[in-house]
Amino acid sequence: MAMGSSERELPAQAWPSRRGRIGARTSLILYCVAILIPAILSLSIAYQWNHVFASIVSVLNIVFMAMMLSQFALSSRGRWLYRLMGIDHAMSLHRRIGEWIAIFFFLHPFLIVLPRLWFAPELVWSDLWLSFTQTSVATGVYAWMILIVWTLVSIAKAKAGLSFEAWRYSHTIGFGVVAVLGVLHAIDVGRHGQLQPLFNWIWIAGGTAAVLAALWGLTGRARAMDARTFRLVEVRKASASDWELVLENDLRLPFAFEAGQFAWIGATRSALLRDEHPFSIASAPSELPVLRFVIRELGDFTRQLSRLKPGSRIRVDGPYGDFSLAGRSARGVLLIAGGAGIAPMLGLLRDLAPDQARLPIRLLYGNRTASQLVAQDELRALEARLPDFRQVIALEQTDAAVGAHHHGRMDPDFLKAHLPPHEEIAGCLIFVCGPPVMVEHVVAHLIRLGVPKRVIVYEEFGF
Ligand SMILES: Cc1cc2nc3c(=O)[nH]c(=O)nc-3n(C[C@H](O)[C@H](O)[C@H](O)COP(=O)(O)OP(=O)(O)OC[C@H]3O[C@@H](n4cnc5c(N)ncnc54)[C@H](O)[C@@H]3O)c2cc1C
Repeated sequence: MAMGSSERELPAQAWPSRRGRIGARTSLILYCVAILIPAILSLSIAYQWNHVFASIVSVLNIVFMAMMLSQFALSSRGRWLYRLMGIDHAMSLHRRIGEWIAIFFFLHPFLIVLPRLWFAPELVWSDLWLSFTQTSVATGVYAWMILIVWTLVSIAKAKAGLSFEAWRYSHTIGFGVVAVLGVLHAIDVGRHGQLQPLFNWIWIAGGTAAVLAALWGLTGRARAMDARTFRLVEVRKASASDWELVLENDLRLPFAFEAGQFAWIGATRSALLRDEHPFSIASAPSELPVLRFVIRELGDFTRQLSRLKPGSRIRVDGPYGDFSLAGRSARGVLLIAGGAGIAPMLGLLRDLAPDQARLPIRLLYGNRTASQLVAQDELRALEARLPDFRQVIALEQTDAAVGAHHHGRMDPDFLKAHLPPHEEIAGCLIFVCGPPVMVEHVVAHLIRLGVPKRVIVYEEFGF
């Protein structure tokens, strides 16, 4: 596919941004610095040069403890976090760090007795027994056991038949208890706190901030959200599996967004019930005060949308996310959508349409069947109206309507055939959105095909 055209050499188009965020890399560096502060302070108290292993484990304990406490801030959905790194980055950081924390603290009691294997192997079992039975470490043992149970629940939440809301509640409360017990354990037996009691204030302050962030997430933010409702205009069928939800900001609440961003939506009377779900805004900012969403039927929440009555109040918390052209520039844009991943792409395209963008734009749109395709009339009209826009459809299952579409998944051959020429890729932007598995595969294929990471912008439909 020649997405760009060398004869025409269009200048790169730049999109301004209103957000003033500091960028993913800088925010990650700031995060690492903040996490390392307690460990750096601890070095001035009790680094034992003659016990290298014990000192390394002790510093790691402090780093992972700080990481655990920071988890509550990362998942708090606070406005400050949005400014700093974006909710999507914060949530994916939260998930990845959570995995590391679970592994490290599971190993924690074993790491402490590990040196015994070399110096006094006959004492390993008695040391292990002591590290689980001494009264002084009881808080740590409880924290360890709850951590294991809640980690297993998180891994198997779907198989356990737990609803997402129930899981979210129990996740916050369960890990809140782990954090409080962890802080008590650090104060009870932490070497640095015993040598310099002031050090314990780091844990007391961190633990208090974590509990407050968790309480804010469970109640305070929910209460604030109860006042932010939009009117439901209509819910209509968008495809065999998707609904289009149309809302109106009839109370004229402050709400501005950039095309491609998402919002949390809740349909119950109070956000305290934590029924909020994230959905990409499929309309353009110019359509405000109207907001449109394309929502695939998947589970409890999305299945009951069609039963909502026009005029109902819907809570809208947003906008969030960085899946937008704002603050970026490109000579060409490739949009790759799987299933409901078409929603933010429609937002981006609907935002471009009035500009009659001269940019080469391609949409690769994958679905299982033709009956699941959304907004086909509109996308065909865009193909006719925009100077250089084309949609390429990939369908997994053949049916009567397949016609000229690609048959199969968006595999490396398909992607390769529709990528811009190699020499043009660096000047393009590639947006990928859809279910997590699809996004992971497509992004991995693109990287294997030589696409530089920095031109790929992706959003997974799952945190
Ligand atoms: C940033 C983002 C944007 C999204 N945009 C869209 C969109 O435009 N259209 C669309 O159809 N879907 C979108 N999703 C996915 C959508 O949020 C889920 O499909 C929906 O929440 C499922 O809820 P359910 O109760 O019907 O299904 P469930 O069976 O409860 O959930 C199915 C899966 O959806 C995810 N999920 C459920 N509830 C939540 C929640 N509250 N927060 C985060 N993830 C959740 C989980 O991975 C869960 O395993 C988006 C997800 C994210 C993270």
